[in-house]
Order: sequence, then C-alpha cells, then structure tokens
Amino acid sequence: MANKSTQLAVLGGGPGGYAAAFMAADLGLDVTMVNLEENPGGVCLYRGCIPSKALLHVAKVITESREASEWGITFDEPEIDLDKLRSWKNDVVSQMTGGLKTLSGQRKITYIQGRGQFTGPNSMSIETDDGEKTLEFEHAILATGSVPVEIPGLSLDDERVMDSTGALELPELPGKMLVIGGGYIGLELGQVYSALGSEVSVVEMMSNLLPGADQDLVKHVANRVKSQFVDVMTDSKVTEMKAQKNGIKVTIEDKDGGQQNKIYDRVLMSIGRKTVTDGLGLENTAIEIDDNGFVVTDEQCRTAEDSIFAIGDIAGEPMLAHKASHEGIVAAEVISGEKAAFEPYAIPAVVFTDPELAWAGLTESQAKKEDIDYELARFPWAASGRATTLGRSDGMTKLLIDPETERILGMGIVGPGAGELIAEGVLAIEMAATAEDLKMSIHPHPTLSETVMESAEVFFGHSTHIYRPKRK
Ligand code: FAD
Repeated sequence: MANKSTQLAVLGGGPGGYAAAFMAADLGLDVTMVNLEENPGGVCLYRGCIPSKALLHVAKVITESREASEWGITFDEPEIDLDKLRSWKNDVVSQMTGGLKTLSGQRKITYIQGRGQFTGPNSMSIETDDGEKTLEFEHAILATGSVPVEIPGLSLDDERVMDSTGALELPELPGKMLVIGGGYIGLELGQVYSALGSEVSVVEMMSNLLPGADQDLVKHVANRVKSQFVDVMTDSKVTEMKAQKNGIKVTIEDKDGGQQNKIYDRVLMSIGRKTVTDGLGLENTAIEIDDNGFVVTDEQCRTAEDSIFAIGDIAGEPMLAHKASHEGIVAAEVISGEKAAFEPYAIPAVVFTDPELAWAGLTESQAKKEDIDYELARFPWAASGRATTLGRSDGMTKLLIDPETERILGMGIVGPGAGELIAEGVLAIEMAATAEDLKMSIHPHPTLSETVMESAEVFFGHSTHIYRPKRK
C-alpha cells in the first residue's frame, strides 16, 4: 500500500539533504525528507563539523591561556569536568538540529524518521519504528553521505579503538592516544585531546601531514603539531593492533621496514571516509557508481536515473558540507524547473587546526601537476601588525595569479582565522577579481584581512610592510 506520495523525496537529512529540501519547499514543491536521525543535520551536525568545532574552540581557549604566560599572565592549569564539557557539546548539537527540525516544519516539509530504500525509479520503502511505509515520488534526491573507513584487516572490536564519531563522544581523556591518519579529521581531534591533556601521537603513511594540501602552507601546521604532539610518525603505517589489558598494542612500520611496538590507552582511526551506497536499493534503479564508490552525476546533479538526483559526499569530492549544500540547492532548483548548474570556480576547504589552513581555487601543487602558468605572491604574517599583536606571526597568505590577465586563480592562507579570511578569496575568484582589484580595495587596519591586500601588493613589488621589489 502506498502510504504517501510526494513531489520530491529527499533521502538523507545532512547539509546536502536539508538544504535541498528547504530550497525545494521554498520553490513550492511538496517535499518529504527521510532520515535516520530524529532531526535533520546529518554527519556535519551530529558527528562532524559542529561538535568538532565546539571542542576545537575549547582547545583554543586552553592553549591560549597556557601561552599567555609569555606575556606575563599566568593561569592555573584548567580543571576539566568532562561530563559538563560533553553535555555542553551535546547541547550545541541539539540546539542546531532542533532548529533545523523547526525550520523544516515551518516549510511544511513532511519529516519521516526511518531507513529508506529505493524499490524503483519512483518509489521507496521506509523502515520506521511504526513498521514499513512506502513512498511514491515524482523526483528524489539521494543524499546519504559517508561514514568512516576502517583499515582492512586491522579492525578491532574494542571500545578503546575509536573512529571520529567515537572520539567526539569524549568517552574519557586517555593518557596516551594514537591517531592513525594525519588528515584534517585526525589532526583536529588530536589537537583537541592534546589540549585537554592527553599525550597524542600521530602516524601517517605518506611523507607529510595533510598530504592533499599545499605543503608550503602545511609546514606551518606541521611545526605546531610537532610542538604539541609527543610523536609525529610520517612515512609509517600501522600493521597490527592487539587488545591487551594495559592498552592497545600497536605495531608501527616505517618505510624501511623497521618495526616498533607501542602501547596506547586509546586509538583514533581517521584514515578517510567512504560513501553510503549499500542497502539503498540502488539496484532497483539505473543509478551508476564509479570506481571510487561515488554516484555518477552531471553538472545538474542528475544520476543515470532520470527521476533521481544525487548530492553531497555520495556524489563526489570534496566531501565537505558547503559543497553538499550548494549541490542540494542546485538539484532543488533544477527539479523545480529553474535553469541551474553546479559550476563553481572555487570550493573553499578549511582545516580547523591551530593554525587554521584554508584554500580556494587553484593550489600551487595542482598548478604544477596540471602545468598551469601562474605567478605567486606571498605575504608572511611576520610583517602583519595584527598577527604580531596576537602573538601569532607564524602565518602566510599567498595568491596564485594569472600572469596574462592578472586574475586571481587561487588563494591559500595559514594562520589563526584562515577559515574566515578565505571567503574573500572565494569572492575574488568567483567575481574574476584581478590582483589590482584586491590591492585597491581598502582593508581595515589592523586586521589579518590586510594580508590579502598586501599579498596583492607583493605581486606588484610594492607592499608597504615588506621590501620585495618586483623582478624585471
Ligand atoms: P551526511 O551529512 O553524511 O548526511 C547523510 C544523512 O543520511 C545522515 O543523517 C544519515 O544518517 C542519513 N542516511 C544514510 N542512509 C540513510 C537511509 N538509508 N535512509 C535514511 N537516511 C539515511 N565538512 C566541512 O565542510 N567542514 C568541517 O569542518 C567538517 N568537519 C568534519 C569533521 C568530522 C569529524 C567529520 C566526520 C566530517 C566533517 N566534515 C566537515 C564533512 C561533512 O560532515 C560532510 O561533508 C557532510 O556532512 C556531507 O553532507 P551530506 O549531506 O552529503 O551527508
């Protein structure tokens, strides 16, 4: 029996799914959102962006209070009430997800909590606490996101081995913690636990931390991580883990085959994420999946099944919340008959470590790999008054500029607040701004945003605060 029919069914209520559902409802469609959790929010709000940033804020307060001793202000070591911290973090999450449920109701979206599965190109079954329902739809948007990857052959059924979801629960403060994977999730959570008092080590298979990012900028993050973590083991991999009474015994192998055994109270596995495609009934549709596990879509977010669109983590890199939301909006607009496509020049990426690392548009490594001509302008934060007043002159702002047109092709920033500052780079790239435009736009003093203007001045060889004449 068809319990319900709807114009648009959205499967998955993360930042992709709820943004799509909200936009479609605003455009006049009758929308039904099907999601596993009680409220919309997905990984980002329940076990990703939001709880991790709440805890990183706490880490920042602790770290700054410790470092204030350099300025003659000495605080006692913090007393950490883990139950209170956990409940504050959980309150942040419920406030945000509850708000989304209210917004969903205000838009008259039908919200069904349950597990959805396609039974054909225009129908799905939904397992709910009240039994199975069926839903017929004209269009559907698939937005079931991603989950953490386990290391094949290494998974251990022991609560002391956690993924990012487990680590965000803050079960305890381990004395010694190993982070497997030096990507952004591992480093962000590693810095949280380190600030709270754990001795954190990280092991990374590649020769650098944050392997996908511009290493010119990463080195600033790596220097700080090395001063905070007990051990940073690059070019190394975990080959075995054994649960023992006194901890998790981990065998780590370096690139020359040398092995060492170490014991940790807890291990955080953060080696990447994989899409959720199993159990969705995709075999009952014409949807195609590529070799990397992503649903194949076009620039309008259409899958190979005419009635079904796919967005967010399930539809390809970068696996980031803002990319998911923008795809969601495009899919909703296309389904509502508007002319829309997902064609950004710049999708920003932010690593919320201390210091933050952010980039938008072309990166130097990508330019080199793809043989794209560029000119580089770099402004070191040692020359920034604002960075110096913060005691954080270890940053850098850099621009990649088209040598012919002088258009801004890419921006990279490392330093506190880089995640906020990069928005100017996105706007510059999307609006086809030139280095001259950035140089001529008056930035407020003293702010870190001036480093953007001054890096454009560096390009012309006359930055006020550094002497670097342009080479003829
Ligand atoms: P998701 O958020 O994964 O949501 C999918 C939803 O679908 C979930 O609610 C899931 O329960 C539901 N679902 C799955 N299967 C079914 C089914 N069969 N039926 C019904 N519902 C189903 N990104 C950023 O941009 N910035 C950050 O700072 C950031 N930090 C992160 C930190 C961590 C620790 C993690 C893990 C991720 C972080 N991300 C961050 C990534 C971000 O969370 C994801 O890119 C984003 O959530 C993807 O959104 P989505 O809508 O594609 O899917």
